[in-house]
Amino acid sequence: LTTNIEMLNSHLACFRTDGILNLIGGESRPAASGATFDTSSPVDESVICPVAKGGAEDIDAAAAAAKAAFPAWRDMPALDRKKILNRIADLIVERAEEIALCECWDTGQALRFMSKAALRGAENFRFFADKATSARDGQQLQSPTLMNVTTRVPIGPVGVITPWNTPFMLSTWKIAPALAAGCTVVHKPAEFSPLTARILAEIAHEAGLPAGVWNLVNGFGEDAGKALTEHPDIKAIAFVGESKTGSMIMKQGADTLKRVHFELGGKNPVVVFDDADLDRALDAAIFMIYSLNGERCTSSSRLLVQESIAEEFEAKLIERVNNINVGHPLDPATEVGPLIHKVHFDKVTSYFETAKQDGATVAVGGTRAGDQGWFVRPTLFTNATNDMTIAQEEIFGPVLTAIRFKDEDEALTLANDTQYGLTGYVWTNDLTRALRFTNALEAGMIWVNSENVRHLPTPFGGVKSSGIGRDGGDWSFDFYMEQKHIGFAT
Ligand code: NAD
Repeated sequence: LTTNIEMLNSHLACFRTDGILNLIGGESRPAASGATFDTSSPVDESVICPVAKGGAEDIDAAAAAAKAAFPAWRDMPALDRKKILNRIADLIVERAEEIALCECWDTGQALRFMSKAALRGAENFRFFADKATSARDGQQLQSPTLMNVTTRVPIGPVGVITPWNTPFMLSTWKIAPALAAGCTVVHKPAEFSPLTARILAEIAHEAGLPAGVWNLVNGFGEDAGKALTEHPDIKAIAFVGESKTGSMIMKQGADTLKRVHFELGGKNPVVVFDDADLDRALDAAIFMIYSLNGERCTSSSRLLVQESIAEEFEAKLIERVNNINVGHPLDPATEVGPLIHKVHFDKVTSYFETAKQDGATVAVGGTRAGDQGWFVRPTLFTNATNDMTIAQEEIFGPVLTAIRFKDEDEALTLANDTQYGLTGYVWTNDLTRALRFTNALEAGMIWVNSENVRHLPTPFGGVKSSGIGRDGGDWSFDFYMEQKHIGFAT
């Protein structure tokens, strides 16, 4: 821990001197208004550094830079774009340790899970670097009188708006495909965790990305974010965040007919049948809600467990949850660090009271941990029913709600009885049941007898209030590009 803190401090030195500036047209700049806000660590509430508080004027300058840079970036040979994206990946790997330490300090995520976040970001860049050369590929569709060809062209400058929970990885996930497609970008990262978005933009600049191709504007959602979604030169908005923010963005973007791609919230079920490998199911259920502080869109926050095994399963769960290590995020032994911010801490802890009022049992946790920083004890609610608030709302913390079911029909009804539909996890050794159940489960992504394991060519996204559109593989290009049809008379 001491060594990690020393290393962190050396990496933070330049932020402490300069603060976090915007990057517009290749230039580091304060906000046009001169305004700043402080970013602080959830570990001890100490201020890390001031951050440029961008607004409409900064977004306008960034959109102008992205528009000016677009034609040359669009027309650059794909092999050259590929080289730059691979170079970005190399530089991310070189700075992986710095990125992980800064991200943990800024967000409260535990280093044991975050140490790989930068490398995953680098993989995202390599994956889309390889795809850059096929981005424009089309088809030939012959008719009796025409030779029809299709091609894809990048949509133009795009806005990318990201949340605070795993800011580095998510930024790479959205920006790498946009660049590979030939779009230019204005990125508005979350105000609660701006450190690694700045490192990432610096890396891109250093990797030789032409000025204006990637612009960074920090600031709050209601001013910088809103201005981005309303800007006429921004052709599409790739957004990751809460469902209600997605709905606001859709309204804000209506006048300029903005294309939108939303990755939103979830209340994802992990369904455990009595014929499953219960030890594996237990490990996965714990991992999917108590890693990353439960601040993870794909977390399995609702445990649906079959009555016949519920008592034994819950007893083992209680024992394991009681032993989860809460502590300093830079301590390699820590499994759960502090929640991002007081605002979020207040939201998560409010559900401890709600659970009791609803009539659930607080089997583990349900309290603050320590008296400094935004730490909570990993929490398990049992004796819950699916109509309770704790079973319906996204809590977005290390909080699991356990609900019992009798049979497959009831499990399916409960699993689908939510406004969300991001992921589902099903544990059973009955293959026919798994096929039947996953076919009827309302979710964009489902894993059977597995925790969430990302494979970049597969589609990522949710149904219902969990999102619109898909990322991953070629799906990312569907969003960032326009299909064009040309018919030649034969
Ligand atoms: P949020 O919606 O509060 O904020 C996300 C971003 O939107 C921030 O950058 C914020 O400044 C900006 N924003 C806020 N209001 C805006 C507005 N009116 N116009 C434009 N931009 C605006 O979300 P959060 O609290 O930062 O993140 C947590 C949420 O993100 C959870 O609901 C979680 O499930 C979701 N999430 C989803 C995925 C996914 O892939 N589905 C991944 C990670 C997080």
